[in-house]
Amino acid sequence: MRQRLLVVEDSKPIATVIKQIAQSLKYEVVLATTLTQVEEILSGDTDFFAATIDYALPDAMDGEAIACVLSHGIPSVVMTGKMDDETRKKILAQPVIDYIPKENSQAFLYLKRVLHWQQTNSNNAILVVDDSSAARNHIVELLKRRNFTVFVANNGVQALAKLQQHKDIKMVITDLEMPEMDGITLTNEIRKKHSREQMAIIGISGAENGIHSARFIKNGADDFLRKPFCPEEFYCRITQNIESLNNIAQIQHAANTDYLTELSNRRSFFSNANQRIAEYTKRKVPYCLAVLDIDYFKKVNDTYGHDAGDHVLKALALYMRKHFGAGLTARLGGEEFAILLHGVDSDQLFNKLDDFRREISVSTLPAGDSQIAITVSIGVVFDSKDELSKQMNEADNALYLAKDNGRNQIVISGAEEE
Ligand code: GH3
Ligand code: MG
Ligand code: MG
Ligand code: MG
Repeated sequence: MRQRLLVVEDSKPIATVIKQIAQSLKYEVVLATTLTQVEEILSGDTDFFAATIDYALPDAMDGEAIACVLSHGIPSVVMTGKMDDETRKKILAQPVIDYIPKENSQAFLYLKRVLHWQQTNSNNAILVVDDSSAARNHIVELLKRRNFTVFVANNGVQALAKLQQHKDIKMVITDLEMPEMDGITLTNEIRKKHSREQMAIIGISGAENGIHSARFIKNGADDFLRKPFCPEEFYCRITQNIESLNNIAQIQHAANTDYLTELSNRRSFFSNANQRIAEYTKRKVPYCLAVLDIDYFKKVNDTYGHDAGDHVLKALALYMRKHFGAGLTARLGGEEFAILLHGVDSDQLFNKLDDFRREISVSTLPAGDSQIAITVSIGVVFDSKDELSKQMNEADNALYLAKDNGRNQIVISGAEEE
C-alpha cells in the first residue's frame, strides 16, 4: 500500500511543488487548504504516514494546524514563511519532525530529503547509551519521531552486548559518564572491531569542560554533542553522519557488484573467497570452487540480439542465487561465472552443481519476448590446498575440458589423472 502524505497548504503553486516532490517519492497525496478542511479530513481518517503543514493558513494564521495534526500522532514537517526567533521556538517546542523556512528553492530540495529519510530511516539502526533514563528517553523519542530503528543500553558493557546481538546497528550515541564502562572506553572498544566506514559514534556530555569533545574524537568518535542540545542541532548531526555512512556503503556496493547481474564482481569474489577458503580450511569444511561458462553464447547474441543476451545473463544469475544462496557467486566477466560452495562432502557438492546444470539445460530463460534455451559447462576443484589464483586456473582448465568433451557438463579438476 502506498504511504499517504497529508499536505496542508493554501498556496496553490507551493502545493503543486510539494505534491510533485511527494509523488516522486511514491507518496499518495491528500491536500487540505484550510484548518477547517484539515479537521474534516482527520475526523474521518487519520491514517497518514506523514504531513507537511504550512504555518499560516487563511483560518489559522498562527500555526494552529500544527497542534491539530500532531494531536493525531502524524509525524509532521512545518513549512513556514516566517523566520523570526519566536515562531521558530514555538514550532520546535512541539514534537515536529522538522521545520523548513520557505525562503528559497533549497527549501524544497530539503523537504524532499526529509520526506525520503522518513521512508528509509527504519533501515538505520541506532544504539543509544546513557545511564540516565530521562536523557536516554529524550534521545529515543527524537529518533523514533524520525522513524529510526532504536536500541538502548545503560552503560558501555551493555552497549557492547547489544552490538554483538544486533549486527545491523550503524550508529552509537553515547553519554560520557556512566557506571561500569564510560563513553570514552566504549568508543575505544567499538573501534577495535568496527571501522568508521562501518559505524558512526557520537559522544554526548553535559560537562562544561570543552575537553570532552576532543577526547571523544581522539578516541575514535565521529562527532560530539553538548547537553542540552536542541532537536534541530541533534537531527542535523545524526542525519549528516548517517548519510555519510550510507554514501560509503553505496560506493562500496557499486565497487564490488557487477552492474548487469548484481552478483559480486571478480575483485570482490577474490577477496571474499580467500577469506572463506581460509575459514573452511581451518574448520575442515569440504568445499569446491567452480568456474562456469555459457555454451555458444555468441550464437544467442547473434540470433536474438545483445539485449536478449543481457537478459539471459541476468536470468542465469537469478538461477545461481536460487541454487547457491549460501555460497559465494560472482560474474567474473562476459558469460563466465564463479561459484564457491561448502557442504558435507564432494559428492553432495558435485550433485548441487549438476542439479543446477541440469535445470538450466531443461529450462528456457526469459529474454524480452523470447524464451531462450542455453546450456552451461563447468570446471570444478575440490578442497584444493593451492592458493586461490591457482585453484581458479585449475577450474578453468577443467572447464576447457568440459567444452572439448561436448559442453553441457561438469569436469572435475584432476579427475582425469586418477
Ligand atoms: P563457448 O561455448 O566456447 O563458450 O562459446 P561462446 O560463444 O559462449 O564463447 P565466446 O567466448 O566465443 O563468446 C562469448 C560471447 O559472449 C561473445 C560476447 O559478445 C558475449 N558477451 C560477453 N559479455 C556479454 C554481455 O555482457 N552481454 C551480452 N549480451 N553478451 C556478452
Ligand atoms: Mg551519565
Ligand atoms: Mg561461452
Ligand atoms: Mg567465455
